[in-house]
Amino acid sequence: MENVLLLAHTEADGSLAKAGLEALATALGLGGALTVGLVGAATQAAAGQIAGCGAARFLAVTGDAFGQPRYTTDAAAAEALCRAADCPIVLAAGTSRWARALPGVAYRLSGRVDTHATSLTSANGAPAVTRWFYRQRMEAVLSRTQRPWVVLLDPGCVAPWSSAGLAGGPRGYPACPTVEAVSVEPPATRTTVTGYQAPKADEQTIRPDAKVLLVAGAGWTKKQADGAVHAAEAEQLILGFLRKAQASLGGSKSVVDLTGEGEAVLHCMTHMNQVGQTGSTPRHAKGLSTCCHGEEPHVVGWRFVNQRRAINLDAGCGWARGKADVLYVADAFEVMRHVNALLG
Ligand SMILES: Cc1cc2nc3c(=O)[nH]c(=O)nc-3n(C[C@H](O)[C@H](O)[C@H](O)COP(=O)(O)OP(=O)(O)OC[C@H]3O[C@@H](n4cnc5c(N)ncnc54)[C@H](O)[C@@H]3O)c2cc1C
Repeated sequence: MENVLLLAHTEADGSLAKAGLEALATALGLGGALTVGLVGAATQAAAGQIAGCGAARFLAVTGDAFGQPRYTTDAAAAEALCRAADCPIVLAAGTSRWARALPGVAYRLSGRVDTHATSLTSANGAPAVTRWFYRQRMEAVLSRTQRPWVVLLDPGCVAPWSSAGLAGGPRGYPACPTVEAVSVEPPATRTTVTGYQAPKADEQTIRPDAKVLLVAGAGWTKKQADGAVHAAEAEQLILGFLRKAQASLGGSKSVVDLTGEGEAVLHCMTHMNQVGQTGSTPRHAKGLSTCCHGEEPHVVGWRFVNQRRAINLDAGCGWARGKADVLYVADAFEVMRHVNALLG
């Protein structure tokens, strides 16, 4: 098997995030000699975190300029690491940071890049990437002859590498490995990172690691049996379930679009929540669809949700046509009131 370079950037606290550890697990599964290339303001802690992984070499581009996500500095660091490691296969997690920088790096190295890979494995000594096309409707296995071949692995596809079971050193990890510094002059940049804006933790409704996805459709904002709209109660039921089940919130396109159309809206819903062909394709063990019709452009976003249930008043809705494991033909307001009461 060809040698592999794993590129990993550190987080604000200097550690490697779960997505980076997933890419590490994939790199180790390939069987070639592994070089780890770290990028960050400080990289020693990250090297210590994965010290026992079995990598043959640790390289690092370190410095304040490389702590912030930015195309110019990330691309310069990654290019230098690729040249220093000289590995034909370059693997990285498909984080927003690497997704922005690495295609340009592949071009600079006259290599090729594949993004949104769901696996990278070795078949008879040749690496092959799996990825989905046409919004997760078709799965393909690809191989390439050009090198270096840069592969971005989508987060959530494999179990992350873990130090559990390794001989313990300081803080539970084996001793820090020797990290070879790769020197890079920070390129001139016009982008300054001034800070982060994020919703408060209790307002955050998108939780990629949650076990359950609750999808709310436009039905929550439509006139109900009494002829009235009950958007406020709908919001309370949805948020109550999210809090109690620590679930993630998805929406149909119709419901997220309502905000712009001046109709009764769910304030917890933004375009970021949209699931489907023109939305996201989240990975959760279970999904519960409520007041959503289950049309194909929406359900195509459920490709990676393993157990699917839906609540709809309409026994002939899309979910009834082989798209859900269980369809409850019922009033979602009533069902969710009971579910929330049961959850305490
Ligand atoms: C090119 C293209 C791309 C698209 N991309 C996406 C996409 O990414 N994501 C997406 O979601 N859609 C997408 N769509 C739109 C999609 O086809 C549907 O229009 C949309 O998903 C419908 O949303 P909905 O089911 O919430 O609303 P509706 O179709 O209005 O359905 C509301 C449902 O709520 C039910 N209901 C009402 N009250 C209750 C109650 N009390 N209890 C239980 N059920 C109740 C009704 O029976 C009805 O089935 C796309 C369409 C196109 C053409």
